[in-house]
Amino acid sequence: MSKKLFIETLGCGMNVRDSEHIIAELNRKEPYTLTQTIEDADLIIINTCSVREKPVAKLFSEIGIFNKRKKEGAKIGVTGCTASHLGEEIIKRAPSVDFVLGARNVSKITQVVDQKHAVEIAIDYDESSYEFGEYRTNPYRAMVNISIGCDKQCTFCIVPATRGEEISIPSYLIFQEISKAVASGAKEVMLLGQNVNNYGRQFGNNEEKINFTKLLQKISTIDGLERIRFTSPHPLHMDDTFLEEFAHNPKLCKQIHVPLQSGSTAILQAMKRGYTKESFLNRCEKIRRLSPEATISTDIIVGFPGESEQDFEDTMEVVERVGFEQIFSFKYSPRPQTQAQHFKNMISDEITTARLQRLQSRHLEMLVAQMDAQIGSFCQVYFDELKPNRRVAGRCDNGRLVFVEGSEALLGKVLTVKITHATRTALEGVVWE
Ligand code: SF4
Repeated sequence: MSKKLFIETLGCGMNVRDSEHIIAELNRKEPYTLTQTIEDADLIIINTCSVREKPVAKLFSEIGIFNKRKKEGAKIGVTGCTASHLGEEIIKRAPSVDFVLGARNVSKITQVVDQKHAVEIAIDYDESSYEFGEYRTNPYRAMVNISIGCDKQCTFCIVPATRGEEISIPSYLIFQEISKAVASGAKEVMLLGQNVNNYGRQFGNNEEKINFTKLLQKISTIDGLERIRFTSPHPLHMDDTFLEEFAHNPKLCKQIHVPLQSGSTAILQAMKRGYTKESFLNRCEKIRRLSPEATISTDIIVGFPGESEQDFEDTMEVVERVGFEQIFSFKYSPRPQTQAQHFKNMISDEITTARLQRLQSRHLEMLVAQMDAQIGSFCQVYFDELKPNRRVAGRCDNGRLVFVEGSEALLGKVLTVKITHATRTALEGVVWE
């Protein structure tokens, strides 16, 4: 009889891949099947995110609920970034938690699962050369880590404190993992890392001389792999060679995330982002020139300490000039173990809320116009998800989400679609044989 596993994944793509690794490693030890019902679960795992305060606050109320609903003898484990930075404190505040496993210790899941109150959160533990078992949430598209941790010190960000120093995963392991995924049906891969285009700067115990552009060229030689996506690159490492490769490598999907955070050079300095408003614009304009069909998405923090009206106007100016196709925008959230939490000139919630609303409503106007402009156009869609009501979902090369009417026969295929409708988040279309 296989055991039942309930796993909840919060946060970013790295966490989604870590959850897949957790499932794979547990199944190496003994068979587990996934359940969506807490009451049925023998093991309950919450894979946490701590990039903002809200998910952390939510964690303890959730543990309380799960503990009440769980069946006799079931275990609760907390993994991910909040596990890394709270560690023992989680068990002190919630003794019903059986183990705590930090974001850099995923390969130890089978060790801690049977230890009462085990806490494994070392952020210098190097599992970059560890060969995880195989498990994929979606067989048609593979997520593959190419590095763990981050070597930057952005003053607002807790990631270096929860995921540790940046280490690149040896390219033979990445090549091997993608080849296996392609052999089992995936035509698309998403390369994951905090700063993917800083790949190759530091390895654990491997002296390989390679950088991100060379890694992309190497991966592109894999037969059967048709589409390569990656997240998240850092504007600091967007040299011309990388952008030329992005533009001219037919397997690289023309979708790129360029996290801005702020449009003000003064605020970027306070954030220790390492680039200026002008250099950021220069890179985006280069992308627009080299790959006019590409979509650019970004991250923006509003209300960072010291952000003046003019600083915010600079952010709005960059938004206008780049015309981002997607913006992930948030209010500044002070995080423990970061420099900015100690900064003086905090911005009131009232002002921050007003700025965020202005940014989001202006971007919504731009987005609706961009999406409406797709109606009547054609794009190559890779179908990778069955949806209710005879609908199938996939993405254009530039990352836009597309729905068509159809059956699972479309899954795993790249087909021409004529766009007939548009909403701000997705396109509708018909398969154009
Ligand atoms: S680059 Fe900056 S924002 Fe991104 S994970 Fe590293 S420290 Fe955080």
